[in-house]
Amino acid sequence: MDHKESRLDRAKSQYALYKERPLDISMARGIPSEEQLKLSESLISDIKIDKWLSEDDLDIRNYGGLYGIEEARELFGTLLNTTAEETLIGGNSSLQLMFSVLSHHMFTKENPWSASKDMPVKFICPSPGYDRHWSMLEYLGIKMIPVELTGSGPNMEVVEKLVSQDPSIKGMFVVPKYNNPTGESVSNEVVDRLAGMHTAADDFLILWDNAYVVHHLTNEKVEIKDIFSASKAFGHPDRVIQFVSTSKMTLPGAGVSAMGASTHNINEMAKYFGKQLISFDKINQKRHVKFLKDESTIAAHMEKHRDILEPKFTWIDAILSAYFGGENNSFVEWTTPKGGYFVHLTTRANCARKIVELMSAIGITLTPANAAYPYGSNPLDNSIRLAPSFVSLDQLEIAMEALCVCIDLVTLENYENL
Ligand code: PMP
Repeated sequence: MDHKESRLDRAKSQYALYKERPLDISMARGIPSEEQLKLSESLISDIKIDKWLSEDDLDIRNYGGLYGIEEARELFGTLLNTTAEETLIGGNSSLQLMFSVLSHHMFTKENPWSASKDMPVKFICPSPGYDRHWSMLEYLGIKMIPVELTGSGPNMEVVEKLVSQDPSIKGMFVVPKYNNPTGESVSNEVVDRLAGMHTAADDFLILWDNAYVVHHLTNEKVEIKDIFSASKAFGHPDRVIQFVSTSKMTLPGAGVSAMGASTHNINEMAKYFGKQLISFDKINQKRHVKFLKDESTIAAHMEKHRDILEPKFTWIDAILSAYFGGENNSFVEWTTPKGGYFVHLTTRANCARKIVELMSAIGITLTPANAAYPYGSNPLDNSIRLAPSFVSLDQLEIAMEALCVCIDLVTLENYENL
């Protein structure tokens, strides 16, 4: 029996053992673990609010202050490179802010995209990207155009060509730092090109989702050029709307989100929100300001998250290297991110779906294969996202061993000549 056959046989018999004793592990979504949530317990139990007035004299228990309290706008402005006037504080979800921006531009602003003669409305989707961005666009009837990521952001040759020619392309999503799921960050050159590029649509919008702005996993803390001032300098102050949230700093179910943009855009969105609510939760904003305080307190808090998360990423790399280093290195490629929440696997073509199916059949749930592509459509069928934050190191080790077996099985069965 040659080496390949014995490896395949071993994988088959190992898989049969997993089948006999199915597991119950999920690495499908980037959810903070119990241990991470505990880091922010004092937000609820220890923070005492001794004064009900905000710095701009709003009673935080009462109605009012749709833009957020002054001290929260200032604090989150430090993450967004915006002034307090250029910052709006939302509820616990930045996705809700993004959806609201899209919905406003699509339907409720003056000359909304949906009434444009250039139809259908289209968006550039740097891929592999965040599946919830894609489902949001699909839900709103916006057609998605995938553009490949290069390792330092979207392929700008392609982006510039598309947006300069087609006025129905109204915008794009960018996750600038530690992208979900590839982990890459945009280069300064990409920032400048996005800020300065000619767009056929004069109301072109970049949704700059900086969800992982302070979520480092190594000492090499990636910093990105400020796109907001770059776009102002190029004469496009309204092009970029930035988003951050505390979902992965404090508590995803009870955090604070923020949006940074020109005062024109901020006022437009305040008008939009003003039709739905009188104010977001200002007590939670105050609590977050007291807990997160300033940039250095945030950085120290994020180091505690790193202490919990980093070993999981190290483990993934170690196990994959042990299986697929050396002579088997053509089976799969994987990312070693410097921050964020995900590892992305590029399998051989036509293997990803089958691998995820095999994992599911033994009780290990991964994000659906190719979900990082618009419409879940990836002709190469080679994309798998791993989200290790929620599982324990023990579970992670078991799941990764099983994943390696499944990769072996599918790759060796699909590719005769390896
Ligand atoms: N954007 C990106 C890129 C994300 O990965 C996530 C969480 N997985 C979110 C937004 C969700 O943000 P929020 O909880 O603030 O809605």
